[in-house]
Amino acid sequence: MSKSPAPTAPALKLTGRSYHQTQAAKRYMGANVQATTDTTVTFKPGLTWAEVESLVKAAIMDAKREGQKGHSIALHSLLRAVGRKLEEAPAPTAVDAKAARTAEAALARNRAANRKAAATAKAKAAAKKAPRKPAANTQARLSKALKADASKATAVPGYQLRWPHGGYDLYRALEADAPSAWVVRCTAHGTTTPAPNAKAGDALGAKAARAAWCKPCKAEAKAAARKAPAKAKGPSDADVDKALRTLKAELESPAMQAAIAAPVPAPAKARKAPAKSNVVPIRKAAKAPAKAATRKAVK
Ligand SMILES: [Zn+2]
Repeated sequence: MSKSPAPTAPALKLTGRSYHQTQAAKRYMGANVQATTDTTVTFKPGLTWAEVESLVKAAIMDAKREGQKGHSIALHSLLRAVGRKLEEAPAPTAVDAKAARTAEAALARNRAANRKAAATAKAKAAAKKAPRKPAANTQARLSKALKADASKATAVPGYQLRWPHGGYDLYRALEADAPSAWVVRCTAHGTTTPAPNAKAGDALGAKAARAAWCKPCKAEAKAAARKAPAKAKGPSDADVDKALRTLKAELESPAMQAAIAAPVPAPAKARKAPAKSNVVPIRKAAKAPAKAATRKAVK
């Protein structure tokens, strides 16, 4: 008297559950739950433990998607109870295995749908938060900077070049959850520092401010400071050369040569001869006491 396996197995039942678990099962598993009490869950007849497990997993994802953390926790407890049943259960028959595969496929579809929904939500959020599209002239500036140095495009991983400058470049985060919204990069040394926004980035990128976070820039600033006082001490070699050239030209000027060559002049002549030359101060000096004497005489 052989008996073919029954097309539907008896309904599976979980006992010793909490009220939260039974209610969460009822809420998220719909028709797959035949009945519940405060402590038991009876599943739809014909379901295997493997299928029940897949269904509970799907229910957990639904609860999570709804933001129902408490329900998700209750369903996790239920899942552990199902897991214990699976361990107790005999090795799956071919029918069970097929059912499990079907359930897994359903779960995979569920997951794919969830992923798609999550991706759509993320894209929408990103679009909301996305920076304004760079204006045409900014775009041109970016292209120019990247053409001059293509390595700038990938110089800061996770960030894209947004505002190129001379001594520094501003990079904007590609992801909303990046460690900082902006990064300032020293063009000369490739060092970086975070910035909360572009304005702060500009302030940090200024030459004087760079010394505060870029070590090579700091060293350069120190070296420049050491050099500066030396320069202020006196005239440069070029200045000295220029002064010497002027002096030489004066000495070689025809008027000076004439003055040098001329015999010691008589007082009357002397007044006329050096009129155009550099000897003027001498003449003035010679004259000054005379004037003073005149003024005194007038008084
Ligand atoms: Zn630097």
